[in-house]
Amino acid sequence: MKLLLIYTGGTIGMVPSDRGWRPQPGYLESRIRSHVRQEDMDVEFDWLEYNPLIDSSHINIAHWNTLAEDIVAHYHDYDGFVVLHGTDTMAYTSSILNFMLRGTRKPVILTGSQIPVWESHTDGLDNVALALQHAQRRDLHEVYLAFNQTLFHGAHVTKIDTDGLKTFAAPHGVHLAATGEKEASQPRCIPASDAAIEVYYCLPGNSLQGLSALLKTQPRALIMSTYGSGNAPDSPELREMLKVAQNQGTLLINRSQCYRANVDMDRYEAAAALRETGLIGSGTMTLEALTAKLRVLLTLFDNDVDIAQQLLLPWTQELPPINAS
Ligand code: ASP
Repeated sequence: MKLLLIYTGGTIGMVPSDRGWRPQPGYLESRIRSHVRQEDMDVEFDWLEYNPLIDSSHINIAHWNTLAEDIVAHYHDYDGFVVLHGTDTMAYTSSILNFMLRGTRKPVILTGSQIPVWESHTDGLDNVALALQHAQRRDLHEVYLAFNQTLFHGAHVTKIDTDGLKTFAAPHGVHLAATGEKEASQPRCIPASDAAIEVYYCLPGNSLQGLSALLKTQPRALIMSTYGSGNAPDSPELREMLKVAQNQGTLLINRSQCYRANVDMDRYEAAAALRETGLIGSGTMTLEALTAKLRVLLTLFDNDVDIAQQLLLPWTQELPPINAS
């Protein structure tokens, strides 16, 4: 069993600077190797450290494409992959890798920490140990996030705490459906699209000016962040605005602001206008999984009908059963 650890940055290897915490190159590997030896862990791994290391709030499409390409390039050399990543956008990265990586059947486990490894009370070493353990499993074939004793499916998870060690949660419960004996085909990666995906957050009391300004930028996709099961205040102006946007080539999607979301535009009259305008409901997907899948679908398809159809067709486990736990 041999693993590849890819270190992208994040708090796990940060040090203080006069402008706040920042990643420190060249140090984390030896700290982790000495921990592995100390704990007598039976694991062999190679280390790939990115340059520059980043705070994960700087993550962009190019980083995701490099990460997915590196995993595919080294696919046959290793039995599993661990990606060390900052927590701020870890759920976006664990989501998108699930869609970008095709034909792979080895575990890819993301982890990081809230407290750097140099601190005596760090959570980083436990998290890395958990990730190393799961990266050696032969029954895991997708992309996961390991944190605070829990293994999440990478497309189920969201960051819920800026400070606490229970940093992530899966809104619909921790639900790791077996992927079965996935057929190994030629591993490849689908690049993520950098098309503009905007989110409009409904807020009681706001006029439609903000939405109007956003739509003038003609984003490729607009996610309406609605209330409850996908409801929004209705008005002829709103309907007209959305129709014009659609005609100009913006894909319109309805995702609830609710933490545990399940968009159902048939439930309330307050969603009827959005349904009639042709918004696509995002079901139980997290915002992270939804935007991740969109970035891959926008690479593959030009046609909105194809994108809408694929969006609600499970590719991985991005549509968890309601309230699974
Ligand atoms: N700002 C840090 C990052 O995402 C937070 C962390 O790693 O916990 O890189």
